Amino acid sequence: MFKIDLRKLILSLVVVSAALSFANSFLASYHTQRDQLMGQTLETNRAYAAKLADVTEGFFVATQDQLAYSAEILAAGFADQPLMDNEVRRLTQQSDTFNTALVVRADGVVMASSANYLVGQQLTSAGAREALHNKLPAISHPYLGVNDRLVVMISHPIYDSKRRYLGYVGGAIHLRSRNILHTLLGVHHYRDGSSLYVVDADGTLIYHEDQGRVGEDVTANTVVQALLRSEQGAERLTNLRGVDMLAGYARVPASSWGIVAQRPTEVTLRDLDTLVWSTIRNAIPLMILSLLLLAWLSKFIVRPLRDLANMAPELDAADAPERLEKVGGWYYEADRLKRGLLTGVTLLHQKLGRLNQENVTDPLTGLTNRRGLEQTLDSWRQQGAPFAVAILDVDHFKRVNDTYGHDIGDEVLRFLARQMRESARVSDLLCRSGGEEFVLLLPGAGLEEALGAAQRLCDRIACTISPTGEAITVSVGVADHRGHDETVEALLKRADQALYGAKRTGRNRVLAG
Ligand code: GH3
Ligand code: MG
Ligand code: MG
Repeated sequence: MFKIDLRKLILSLVVVSAALSFANSFLASYHTQRDQLMGQTLETNRAYAAKLADVTEGFFVATQDQLAYSAEILAAGFADQPLMDNEVRRLTQQSDTFNTALVVRADGVVMASSANYLVGQQLTSAGAREALHNKLPAISHPYLGVNDRLVVMISHPIYDSKRRYLGYVGGAIHLRSRNILHTLLGVHHYRDGSSLYVVDADGTLIYHEDQGRVGEDVTANTVVQALLRSEQGAERLTNLRGVDMLAGYARVPASSWGIVAQRPTEVTLRDLDTLVWSTIRNAIPLMILSLLLLAWLSKFIVRPLRDLANMAPELDAADAPERLEKVGGWYYEADRLKRGLLTGVTLLHQKLGRLNQENVTDPLTGLTNRRGLEQTLDSWRQQGAPFAVAILDVDHFKRVNDTYGHDIGDEVLRFLARQMRESARVSDLLCRSGGEEFVLLLPGAGLEEALGAAQRLCDRIACTISPTGEAITVSVGVADHRGHDETVEALLKRADQALYGAKRTGRNRVLAG
């Protein structure tokens, strides 16, 4: 079954967690910045609308003062045509406040006007009737005047010295033409996607960058509704054209108009997108660099575990402890794992060694057993070095058993092993090949040397008291290996034959095969 390796696992984890934390901080900062940006835009628009409302309010107050002053002059000479003509000329020419100025008699007839065609006409428009009826300083609702002009009339009553109402002096602002509001409210604000509009007390547009919309009823707009409730402030809304807007709004108390300064949310956030993308672009090189660094580091983290994992299937190999020792367990887990494996493997090897030893050792005498003998003979033969064998058999051992019992027989066998050990060289291999038969392997020995050694052993046994209380004797057959061509079996057979010869010829002797 497919198993992902640790390094890929670490790298995927790193990549995933880096991506998650990046996305997280990115989103968090995006939201904070977005909220901040929108909040700032709302505040800017609110302040801007309030400022313009102040300016407009100031304008109305000044205009009313101007008309009040004219009203005083006109009161003094209401029948004086040149004075009235002069006054309307002054009102239109001294400033850009009015598109048209006019003096209207109490019955609605125009006495003087900057627009000549009006003179002598009786005005019936809503604005005119309103002014005549109220007899107070007024700013009219927008109305359709002569020539179907959408007009706002600012008027002031004229009273004579006896407080008799003579009529009014008024100035008209033509909403759909270039007018004072354009100067007041300015156009510079449109540059960054922002726009401005003004509604009257009924929610009708009286100023808008799109002149064609002037006169439109926009009471459905939520900000206009707030203005109609006499509120001021800022809010995010979807306007009547379906555009998401950040709008600030304020009221002009003198005229009950509302001014709205707004900017599309999308335009405001465009800056943020640019900012965010540049943040991402700046972060990417560093992110790639840190990923590369982590990829490199992960190699060091993974290496000890990978080495240990690769060694796991071969822990029984002879060099396993050495190789384990070389694994660099530089951090806690790897080190513990390494030490654990090392302890386990060392124990395993000791156990294997012991088992192997037991496998080739004769339990009664501690000498090498038949299996060990054969292994050694095979390897010596393969190496091709000279060696000799001596096969030794106890004479009349049955009698020992019969006379002294099997236990004493065993003691005798152990006694013989001792004798062999004591007379042998360190390099000689001593074996009990079975029953009461022993084999001596003499590395590097020729026949003569082997015969000498066998004879010494034979003599030593014959003159040493055995566990039976008296000396026993042995017969020995000796043969030297005749090089590569001779098999182990052939060699042993020759020695066996020599032993047989020694038995036949009287025992307690050594013969060469
Ligand atoms: P020979 O001189 O011809 O060798 O006479 P022998 O009596 O020694 O004859 P053989 O070698 O055939 O006898 C082997 C005897 O050794 C048979 C068996 O009872 C005895 N024997 C074999 N293994 C053991 C052992 O482990 N312990 C004891 N006590 N006796 C053993
Ligand atoms: Mg025997
Ligand atoms: Mg015997």
